[in-house]
Amino acid sequence: MENNLERRLSQRWKRDLPPPLWNTLSGLGRVGEKLGLRTFLVGGFVRDLLLRRENLDADIAVEGQGGAVRLAREFSRKGKTRIRVFPRFGTATLYLPDEYRIDLATTRKETYPHPAALPRVRPGSIAEDLSRRDFTINSLALCLSPSEFGKLIDPFGGGPDLKSRKLRILHPQSFQDDPTRIFRALRFEQRLGFRITPDNLRLIEKTLAEDIISRLSGTRLTAEIRHSLSLPAVVPLLSRMEKLGVLAGIHPSLKFDPELSRVMSRLQSGLKWFRDKNLTERFPGFEPWVANLAALTAGLENNDWESLRKRLGLSPRVSGKVDGGRRPGPEVLLRLEDRRTANHRVFRLLERIPPEAVLFLEAQSGKEPARKAARLFLSRLSFRKTEINGNDLKKLGIPPGPIYKEILGRLLDQRVDGEIRSRKQELEWVKKHYAGIRILP
Ligand code: ATP
Repeated sequence: MENNLERRLSQRWKRDLPPPLWNTLSGLGRVGEKLGLRTFLVGGFVRDLLLRRENLDADIAVEGQGGAVRLAREFSRKGKTRIRVFPRFGTATLYLPDEYRIDLATTRKETYPHPAALPRVRPGSIAEDLSRRDFTINSLALCLSPSEFGKLIDPFGGGPDLKSRKLRILHPQSFQDDPTRIFRALRFEQRLGFRITPDNLRLIEKTLAEDIISRLSGTRLTAEIRHSLSLPAVVPLLSRMEKLGVLAGIHPSLKFDPELSRVMSRLQSGLKWFRDKNLTERFPGFEPWVANLAALTAGLENNDWESLRKRLGLSPRVSGKVDGGRRPGPEVLLRLEDRRTANHRVFRLLERIPPEAVLFLEAQSGKEPARKAARLFLSRLSFRKTEINGNDLKKLGIPPGPIYKEILGRLLDQRVDGEIRSRKQELEWVKKHYAGIRILP
């Protein structure tokens, strides 16, 4: 298997990799060997190379004295590549043209002081570096040093697992050491179309039964939830998380039932529509995962949502957006579902609701008029503005006061309805309806 893989690789990877990346990788191997260092491609890049999936971020492990920092410095001195080094962590990053990025790290070994804690890290061999990793398919290394170029190091059978599309951890304690691996395993299943082996599934269930997720810090747990809710295949992922008890491990009241599955499937098509329309550019700060979080937590009682929010340590920005999806009552949905609702009413119903929550509302309803109204709002109505402002009203001789808000509000409604389309029409309308107005003191 190994030889076969090696042969296929050496023929293929040069052809598959873009020239700047290929040149840099082989150059790193050459420079490293001159310094007495062994240089390896490792992790997801090797996995994706073998699976012929594109991956823009190459990870390199450097074994030997001075490790990654020494190699990066020497390499950039020769070739003038842009680098950043982090001597404290023994890591460095090379930036290549066309967004390619190469991360270098000194090979290291890790020990876990107690389950779910962050590991203690020390320099180690390539074998030790591979044995601290999550899954067999991510524990492969390809040697870049000229004397061993193309040699595949596969101590855990990652090559055969790639072939049979299996996800397997390296040792039975692995999920307990780092429960984020449970989330990673479930995501890789969806992203790569692999299956977790039956005995690993049992280990996940056993680990979850020990309530291990509760030992993860809020920050680490939120990072995993964010990655998970960002996946296009979020619906099958959540359904698997529900069945295995991962959702209950995050918070006992989190559920993913068939009804929520339908809502979230609709939400994914709303998110796709949003992306296809390039609306992400028009709503800076839009976060698709937050729309999914709003949907996932919509059914929670207020006190459960409050305790989950605290447990995750969500930022005010994120919780504010989720609250935006919780607040609108059923009457908002009823109005959106009524095709007679005028555009300016749609605008007023939705103007204070974050776009993530608007997409969730649309999905929650599932009715055609609500879908149309929400999408019209997001793609057109929400950008409508009046051209005149308070200064113009002053020039028209209208004494400043709360009436300004009323006038500009009525103007905006007509802009939204398309009845007024220019500054000139705005001024004419104000003159007609408010000229000569005198507000009594
Ligand atoms: P992708 O970047 O496509 O999500 P990846 O495997 O490169 O996949 P990263 O999160 O970038 O994912 O991690 C890089 C490598 O670091 C992995 O391939 C794996 O070997 C290792 N790794 C990442 N997270 C863990 C973890 N929690 N435990 C052990 N090893 C990990």
